[in-house]
Amino acid sequence: MSDKNKNGLTRYIPENVKRQIRKNSYFGCVICGTGICTIDHVDPEFHECKKHDPEKMTLLCASCHDKKTRGIIGVKTVKNAMKSPFCKTKNSPSDFLDFGNTEPKIQFGNSLFIKPKSIITINGESILSINEPKEDNENTFLLNAIFHDPNGKEAFRIDDNIWSGNIDNWDIETKGKTITIRSEKGSILLQIENIPEDKFIVHSLSMLYKGYFIQADDDGVEIMTPSGKTMIFLDKGHTVKGDIMINIYKDTTIMDSLEMSNLTIKGGSNIIISNNTITDGGFEIG
Ligand SMILES: [Zn+2]
Repeated sequence: MSDKNKNGLTRYIPENVKRQIRKNSYFGCVICGTGICTIDHVDPEFHECKKHDPEKMTLLCASCHDKKTRGIIGVKTVKNAMKSPFCKTKNSPSDFLDFGNTEPKIQFGNSLFIKPKSIITINGESILSINEPKEDNENTFLLNAIFHDPNGKEAFRIDDNIWSGNIDNWDIETKGKTITIRSEKGSILLQIENIPEDKFIVHSLSMLYKGYFIQADDDGVEIMTPSGKTMIFLDKGHTVKGDIMINIYKDTTIMDSLEMSNLTIKGGSNIIISNNTITDGGFEIG
């Protein structure tokens, strides 16, 4: 990484320059809209560069980058695409998530949910759910999710393992297996990571959905009412097994028929807990 080109420029690109390139590219490959991309020096190429100029760099997916390197896609075509990126005019940046195994797991904040049908359901609608595999692909469970920003606007969604991001976000950064969405500099509204054949992780979430505020991070998972009262707080480090983990209906939190271990639940007064098995943990309600 530290090798310099003939002009003494290293490959290190400052974060603000990378963010500007992502924003200019509408967060996807400028040619085809694929969400997993790398930054490419278009013209001049890196070995001729004197500085990392975001206006002369762009996002390309592995496939389009390879075609450019082999001369199958011309530099002029890439430059035209930079003026009118695919995701500006056609579709949101999107890509495939390699989700699906025999016992799908979701880590939400620091809580581990085993084979859930839904993590949080609000008035009958799930914000993060797993559907059974379809007949033609019986090993792949299907992840569906909808994530809003702290103002209630859709930021990111997953439809049957295909993710897509809203181009109005301040930043969508993909790095390895992790996708980070920021509402402004230094402010993460969503950070997810998908570990193939293991689990889908929501490391961090700060979202407003149908008036409820949902926060998840290393400290736990908290859901608040529109008036700012804690409806439920799950502390960290536990596992929960069941169908619907947290079911919110008309300002009441319902946790029903779950197997929980190592969990302390703190909740408001409107909470119904029934048919649960709890090992090492308990409730602090009211
Ligand atoms: Zn592409």
